[in-house]
Amino acid sequence: MANGLDGLLALQEHDATLDRLLHRHQTLRERDALSQAESDLATLDARITTARAERDDLAREEQRLDDEARSLAAKATEVETKMYSGEISSPRELQAMQSDVEQLRRHQRGIENRELELMEAREPLDATLADLDQQRGVLDGELERIRRGLADAESTIVAEMQQERAARDEIAAGIDAVLVKEYERCRAQAQGVGVARLVGTTCQGCHLSIPAIEAESIKKSAGDVLAYCDNCGAILVP
Ligand SMILES: [Zn+2]
Repeated sequence: MANGLDGLLALQEHDATLDRLLHRHQTLRERDALSQAESDLATLDARITTARAERDDLAREEQRLDDEARSLAAKATEVETKMYSGEISSPRELQAMQSDVEQLRRHQRGIENRELELMEAREPLDATLADLDQQRGVLDGELERIRRGLADAESTIVAEMQQERAARDEIAAGIDAVLVKEYERCRAQAQGVGVARLVGTTCQGCHLSIPAIEAESIKKSAGDVLAYCDNCGAILVP
């Protein structure tokens, strides 16, 4: 039993190391950096979506005006073709057609001017979008770099944990399984300290003292009977 208790102390060292590694794995600073970058990317994507919708609205309106201007130009050309075909001889009719053509061209120019205004309004949006797209590319690269860094850091820790666990399991295999179970129960209850050395009357797990008489009897039994710290519940090793 006494040998088993020493084994438990060694086991606990590996368990504590495993806990530390797990904590390090969970709190890698790359994780914060990653979630920050992901949130930055989401914000940027929202801006891109808004800017693109605004730009596309203008582009659609531009296209609509362009179609209208073309249709007016085609109508004016059609009337002109008819005017110069020689089919119409009435001066009054020709004059009316001429005035139609002028009206159509005026309307066309008005539409083209509005189209030009929209085009000018769209240009800064195009520039903004190009800038945002470029920012997105940079952020994407940054994200990829952080993800790789995180994966590297994780796999380093996982490799260490595997080593620790193998060493731990080897030690555990050499200790009575019932004792290991009891240690695990105590460790789960006492926030990480399942077994502690008793030095004088002080438990090295919680650094509190137990009654001197109790300490004396634990030392006498030399580990033949399991004894526990009154304060933290750890198995005491004389
Ligand atoms: Zn204690």
